[in-house]
Amino acid sequence: MTVSEQTPTYRVFARKYRPRTFSEVIGQEHIVHALSRAIERQRIGQAYLLIGPRGVGKTTTARIIAKSMNCEKGPTVTPCLECAICREIERGTDIDVIEIDGASHNGVDDVRGIRDAVQTQPMRDRRKIYIIDEVQRLSGQAFDALLKTLEEPPEHAMFLFATTDPHKIPDTIVSRCQLFEFRRLREVDIQSKLAFVCQAEGMAVDAEVLQAISRGCRGGMRDAESMLDQVLATAGEKVTLDDLESVAGLARPERWLTLFAALVADDPATILREVAAFLERGGTERDFVEQAVDALRDLLHVALLGEDALGVEPAPARRARMVELARQMGRDNLEGVLGMMFHLESRMQRSPLGARALLEWTLLRAARIGQFFELAQLLGESQGNGFAVSKQASNSTQPSAAPAPAPAPAPTPTPAPTPTPTPAPAPTSTATPTPVPALTPAPVQPAIPSTPAVAKVKTLGTVEALLQRLEKERPTLASVVRRNFVSGTIRGSEVLITLFPLEARDRSLVEDPMELKALARLTWSPGAWRFTYDLGTEVEQDPVVDSLLESFGGQEETP
Ligand SMILES: [Zn+2]
Repeated sequence: MTVSEQTPTYRVFARKYRPRTFSEVIGQEHIVHALSRAIERQRIGQAYLLIGPRGVGKTTTARIIAKSMNCEKGPTVTPCLECAICREIERGTDIDVIEIDGASHNGVDDVRGIRDAVQTQPMRDRRKIYIIDEVQRLSGQAFDALLKTLEEPPEHAMFLFATTDPHKIPDTIVSRCQLFEFRRLREVDIQSKLAFVCQAEGMAVDAEVLQAISRGCRGGMRDAESMLDQVLATAGEKVTLDDLESVAGLARPERWLTLFAALVADDPATILREVAAFLERGGTERDFVEQAVDALRDLLHVALLGEDALGVEPAPARRARMVELARQMGRDNLEGVLGMMFHLESRMQRSPLGARALLEWTLLRAARIGQFFELAQLLGESQGNGFAVSKQASNSTQPSAAPAPAPAPAPTPTPAPTPTPTPAPAPTSTATPTPVPALTPAPVQPAIPSTPAVAKVKTLGTVEALLQRLEKERPTLASVVRRNFVSGTIRGSEVLITLFPLEARDRSLVEDPMELKALARLTWSPGAWRFTYDLGTEVEQDPVVDSLLESFGGQEETP
């Protein structure tokens, strides 16, 4: 959720509680430290470029620098805030501290004006300071004019540039500045500042609400304060998550869990309802994606790092649900869905009118991603990554190879999104919902057992070395593996071996957890061993494969 920067009524708290000194600046310790030292040692430069996302304190810091330089009691790290100069700088009325909005004063004439004016001595203050916000918006000619000034600035002049997008500033300008990169603020820092504001205002607000705002503002204090402003202005006695949802468009955290549970269950009706409800509450499709990405990232962190990974404390009931969802979805699915969301964001930028259809289509597709991944894994392994296998399944003559798709988003063909959202489950554009083979993580029961008779395996390289060693140390297991071998590969510290479907007795041997543990511990083993089964070629003709390839930009190879 972003709040319009142009809406002055929303900036009340941001102005009222704006840091006035370095010690009040939150979350930018590295910058405060460097600047303080420079000021103390009187080694302050003449041009600074303050880089960072919006609302993290760039302009505020520029004003503090101006006060430090020009305060009657200065130059000092602790400007008095009481002298006329300090007060006028805070109000933006100091005659020698000139604030310019690069977005609206971006022409060459504006900059020529600066170039001429900068030569004259300051009227009253020690330094003549130009604060140029959004400096990247200056025109090329304006930058040229500015460069001349920066090459030989008069002693009394100082330039403080602020930008959200340093890449749009010519190198010649950047190289003449000292750079400071502002960080996004941490959620805990934002939350404690918000708590401070609430206390100062004498308003009682649930920690859960403050936490949701801290999460939703994406590291920008100004946005956080604006949201708080909005909520306090419209809510009743006690501010709740519902208020936040209706006023600031921030969905309650539970809603994301409901949505993700619907993805896991492949429940299209709930997915479409959640999208509709979000948009009805006033959020945009982009807000939806942004917030969903944050929630997914939380789950991924829980999946990878355990439940203690949650930076902020969710309510206990929600915490348990998150842990369970993270377990159900697993790393691959979570990374895959995240990738789809990132991809969706850029697609929506290209076709804003189709944003809702794109959003729904992507989510419906994501609901099937669990199946995609299981299938991709089977396909990738049965085709053997670089490991020579020639096999011919009994029921098909069409050879095919599908590379195991990475979850990272890749350019994909333009989708044919469903033009109007219908409440009825309308799964995907390409896949006619033919029954997907019931795929569960290994062990896998093939729908139609394929015949291993014609398999001819050319075993080379280190997997072969491993098998030879295995024959010496685990002859029974090795013989099962040899007889049913389709392909093998070593990926990192994992040995991945694909076999033809096994009989129950052999399967219990290969899948024996104790045996697998023992294998992983063998000194010559790269790590864990994982056995999967080749289902034959019938799955390769499944429409799900086509959807998979389309979603991840894979290509079918015909050898
Ligand atoms: Zn002062």
